[in-house]
Amino acid sequence: MATRTVDLRSDTVTKPTEAMRAAMATAEVDDDVFGADPTAVKLQSEVAKMMGKEAGLFVPSGTMGNLISVLVHCDVRGSEVILGNNSHIHIYENGGIATIGGVHPRPVKNNEDGTMDIDLIEDAIRDPRGELVYPTTRLICLENSHGNTGGRCLPVEYIDSVGELAKKHGLKLHIDGARIFNASVALGIPVDRLVQAADSVSVCLSKGIGAPVGSVIVGSETFITKARRLRKTLGGGMRQVGVICAAALVALQENLIKLEGDHKNAKVLAEGLNQIKGLRVNVAAVETNIIFFDIVEGSKISGEKLYKHLVERGVFVLLEGPSRMRIVLHHQISSSDVQYTLSCFQQAFSGLQEENGN
Ligand SMILES: *Cc1c(COP(=O)(O)O)cnc(C)c1O
Repeated sequence: MATRTVDLRSDTVTKPTEAMRAAMATAEVDDDVFGADPTAVKLQSEVAKMMGKEAGLFVPSGTMGNLISVLVHCDVRGSEVILGNNSHIHIYENGGIATIGGVHPRPVKNNEDGTMDIDLIEDAIRDPRGELVYPTTRLICLENSHGNTGGRCLPVEYIDSVGELAKKHGLKLHIDGARIFNASVALGIPVDRLVQAADSVSVCLSKGIGAPVGSVIVGSETFITKARRLRKTLGGGMRQVGVICAAALVALQENLIKLEGDHKNAKVLAEGLNQIKGLRVNVAAVETNIIFFDIVEGSKISGEKLYKHLVERGVFVLLEGPSRMRIVLHHQISSSDVQYTLSCFQQAFSGLQEENGN
């Protein structure tokens, strides 16, 4: 059995710190379905202020945050949303916007950097003169940082341009900002500036920031009033929710400043992995805390075998395909964990050459 655990499966795996547990134990609470829980109210207004928006709403998950946001903007049947074909909303949320919300998705190709070409977005906007046959475009969704492309950051100029396009056509802009703080830190752009063009943003607290549970969606007062009602409809109205909001408040205080370190650790790890003969990492694409990498073709070690070797040594990663892996850094991974992880990888490759006897 491994004596050490290095959990790199995701930044969702962090455990609440002592300070978070202490804050949870003493949190002031009340019934939040009545909007009366003071700790939830504090968290919501704090996140809204950070994001430069009027109001915020705590929701149990990022998936619910995105679903509610899309449904508020597309509250008329026959609405269509333009989103990335490789976006979290399109791929990993059970198609909820369609199956629950009756919203038609119009996927546009995501580039390797997580953007969609502005021309392609504009081409995808339906001509209102075709209303006899077309759904009505009402919303554009962006994702920042973009998870499936390896945590790439959408630059502020790009977001502003998409915002202008949305305005020109009378559309809303939602940003899936599950890792918006990572993007803000990596780009060196204040987060409120980064999302200035957005009508709504969904922000995960249980990823890079390291809270145990939850997301906050932010937008105008009107948006949040409608969102609150939808949250109740979806079963996301919670009672003494201040118990978990208290941990999130501590997470914001403790961990925002650690994101830069996570990004540095990711770079070190990516560079180290890329030096191993048999692995290929696009180091330049590692902009935040996510690393995707491949076992090169012709390598004698399979993904499964490598995965097993790592697990036996207490190193947990995600196997994304037969020869593709994903690693995500977070505040509970130290630089010594990074070195240990690298040594386990190195051992796997050198060990295997011996085993193959040539
Ligand atoms: C994690 C994530 C979400 C939502 O995740 P939940 O697990 O539902 O909290 C949404 N968008 C992106 C880009 C994510 O990475």
